[in-house]
Amino acid sequence: MEIGFIGLGNMGGPMSRRLIEAGHKLTVFDARKEAMESLVKLGADAARSPAEVADRVETIMTSLPSLDIGLKVVSGDDGLIRGNRVRRYVDLSTTGSRAAVKTAEILKARNIVQIDCPVSGGVAGAEKGTLAVMVSGPKEEVEPIRSALEVFGKVFYCGDKPGMAQSMKLANNFLSATGMAASSEAIAMGVKAGLDPGLMCDVINAGSGMNTATTQKFPRSVLPGTFDYGFGMALMVKDVRLFLAEAEDYGIPLEVAKAVGSLWEAALAEHGANSDFTELAKTVEKRAGVQMRAKKK
Ligand code: NAD
Repeated sequence: MEIGFIGLGNMGGPMSRRLIEAGHKLTVFDARKEAMESLVKLGADAARSPAEVADRVETIMTSLPSLDIGLKVVSGDDGLIRGNRVRRYVDLSTTGSRAAVKTAEILKARNIVQIDCPVSGGVAGAEKGTLAVMVSGPKEEVEPIRSALEVFGKVFYCGDKPGMAQSMKLANNFLSATGMAASSEAIAMGVKAGLDPGLMCDVINAGSGMNTATTQKFPRSVLPGTFDYGFGMALMVKDVRLFLAEAEDYGIPLEVAKAVGSLWEAALAEHGANSDFTELAKTVEKRAGVQMRAKKK
């Protein structure tokens, strides 16, 4: 099918590449020219604005880094609501349900249907097509794009109301953020006791403490000291803040989440918005006075 794709970054880049490889015809836009060029080489058409994408195709997917940018792409001066052809807006970004409800209303006034579609599984999942794809919106609008969504991974229909898939995604990312924070503290404790951090991951992964920090983030990023996992610190802190706000809205008591949130805020202040989220381990290392690197073999 013909698909517009806006936001060709760590996630949007490989996801749009997979769509082209699956035979879909893409019109792309990104604020960075070089991000568009690599897709154009694969056969995509480049547009000059979200409005131009919306003039050319009925279905537009977005994968954008912040709520403000998402809103600008939807309803800014050159926003996609200015285009004449678009009728379906599929947001793959993590925005939380409040923002999703807001954009769904703006779009409804222009007869454009919003489908929330946040994903989980990181850059590796985006490249391999093994993401968890969470979808909410009118079922009859989801079905025509289901096969395109299946290019990204396993599709889970979460409900018909705007934002439901976003609430699902925030619950997932809060657990991912917590796993990273708690694993960093657990491994720092073990290293202080004289254990090898690589051995600790192996044991934890064969035991009951296993989580994606110990199976993937530590082995790929923290133990080798590369800190290049591909998910920005600002994005993870955005997700944790969104979870806290949404859970507070629902009156959920939040002891664990508040502690986790404050560690992530400290990591953001220390390493900056553009650092990789796995650098949270460095904040724990500094506080604990240890280094969690694998021994050079
Ligand atoms: P990213 O920063 O790598 O990519 C964002 C892209 O948007 C960039 O190419 C940037 O140039 C582009 N952009 C910025 N402003 C723009 C504008 N006004 N118009 C058009 N393009 C613009 O971010 P990412 O890691 O790909 O994340 C995208 C979304 O996916 C976020 O909501 C994030 O929370 C979510 N997500 C990321 C991961 C991950 O592991 N990276 C995993 C799951 C979900």
